[in-house]
Amino acid sequence: MPKTRSVSIQLIQKLVLTFFLVVLLMGAAYIFTTVFFMNRYVAETSQKLNAHLADHLITEKFKNEAPFLEDGSVNKALFGGLMHDMMAVNPSIEVYLLDDEGLILYSVVLDEDDAKNPMSRVDLAPVEDFMKCGGQHLILGDDPRNQNEKKIFSAAPYKVGDKTGFIYIVLAGQALTDVNNKLLSSLTFQLGIGAGLLTMIFSGLGGFLAIWFLTKNLRVIIDKVQRFREGDIKVRVTESDNSDLSVLATTFNDMADTIERNIDEIKSVDLLRRELIANVSHDLRTPLAVLRGYIETLQIKGDSLSKEDQEKYLNIIHTSSEQLSTLVSQLFEYSKLEAKQVEPVKEPFSILDLVYDLNAKYQVIANEKNITLEVGQHETVPLVFADISLVERAIQNLMDNAMKFTPENGVIKVVVDSTKDSVVVNIKDSGPGIPEEEQAQIFERYRQAKGEKATKSGVGLGLAIVKKIMELHDSTIRVMSKPNEGSTFYFSLPSYQA
Ligand code: ADP
Repeated sequence: MPKTRSVSIQLIQKLVLTFFLVVLLMGAAYIFTTVFFMNRYVAETSQKLNAHLADHLITEKFKNEAPFLEDGSVNKALFGGLMHDMMAVNPSIEVYLLDDEGLILYSVVLDEDDAKNPMSRVDLAPVEDFMKCGGQHLILGDDPRNQNEKKIFSAAPYKVGDKTGFIYIVLAGQALTDVNNKLLSSLTFQLGIGAGLLTMIFSGLGGFLAIWFLTKNLRVIIDKVQRFREGDIKVRVTESDNSDLSVLATTFNDMADTIERNIDEIKSVDLLRRELIANVSHDLRTPLAVLRGYIETLQIKGDSLSKEDQEKYLNIIHTSSEQLSTLVSQLFEYSKLEAKQVEPVKEPFSILDLVYDLNAKYQVIANEKNITLEVGQHETVPLVFADISLVERAIQNLMDNAMKFTPENGVIKVVVDSTKDSVVVNIKDSGPGIPEEEQAQIFERYRQAKGEKATKSGVGLGLAIVKKIMELHDSTIRVMSKPNEGSTFYFSLPSYQA
């Protein structure tokens, strides 16, 4: 049990860690996008609010005083005043006087020396876009103090005498950017700490609960596998079809079924082996006792017996030893079939030829008993696909019985019929027949119809062997019989489809 638990805990630890990492990544992505869009939002608001700043400056400042002196130079006094106003109102903006090609003629900037990468010319394309939309969209323009950066701005054209150009005001000047950056990094830090803490609490608690729930079925399966390993081979995962791990559950159930079946099979083979040993010793006892009795009689009284008696005893010994030999070989054959040690080697062959061959062999015994032996056939009998020696054995057993039970002057007829895809062999005799209530049992081993054993030799294995042979061919042996009206044993085999 402790192993199962450690497996589950290890699994949960891994899943919690993965969950934590995923949430952490999502948190970082969230912070990044929030800061990015917040920045954009602030910039857009600021640009919209200050869109007319440049326009306003031109109307207000250039109304009374020209931006250029008579000699064409920049009116620095005017811009000095502007610097004064700016410092009082908004020190973050930077004002530039541009000519009509974007060249910077003059700038009003706090901390002039702070410029990182100053420019002498401003790109006029964004300025024109800005004027076209009246500053209603977010447009970024050059930052004259740092050519690697883009800033929000306000711009407006001027015309003084023959001079034209633009007033270009950077709204988020260096001062604002610095303050902004500081605030942003502190905001990011705060958001990060908050989100990190929340992430930890959420993934620790929520994740644990969710994963506990998700792995519930897996833990059930692990527990069942563990119990199976400990020897409880009947254990199965219940409702395996509805579980989210149904494939695993069904696979485990199937595997357990197979193992249980194999164990049962091994047990039954073992049982059969014990049964066989018991039966063999029981079945061999009688003929052996008979043999011993007659041999002893011959040994003790041999000389005093008449010639006929000696002959009679020797005949009994001969028949008993033959019976014994048949019994041993039948037992051996049946036990091999029962233990599934016989693998049929199927091939196409003519069952009609086989029936004729066997008929010729039985003709001698039939003649002795004055039995008429016939073969009847359907016009064309196709080849069958089966194991020839096993089928021969089956027909022999059925013929042996027919010979054994048919009285003198009787008739045995073997008829071979064919249906659409199979061939049927019927062995019909004119014997005593078998009562209906006993017909089902005669195919079980050691089963004989009542009243026959005393008169006929055999131990009840012949039909059991035929049944096993038919099972190997996915077929069955059946009987049609009525007392005093003879019996017909029949079976079918698949015909060979070339
Ligand atoms: P056995 O060695 O006793 O013949 P089988 O398995 O071949 O064993 O047959 C089982 C029993 O079925 C026989 O003992 C007999 O009672 C009955 N039986 C089989 N074939 C015939 C038949 N052709 N006519 C009458 N009874 C039969």
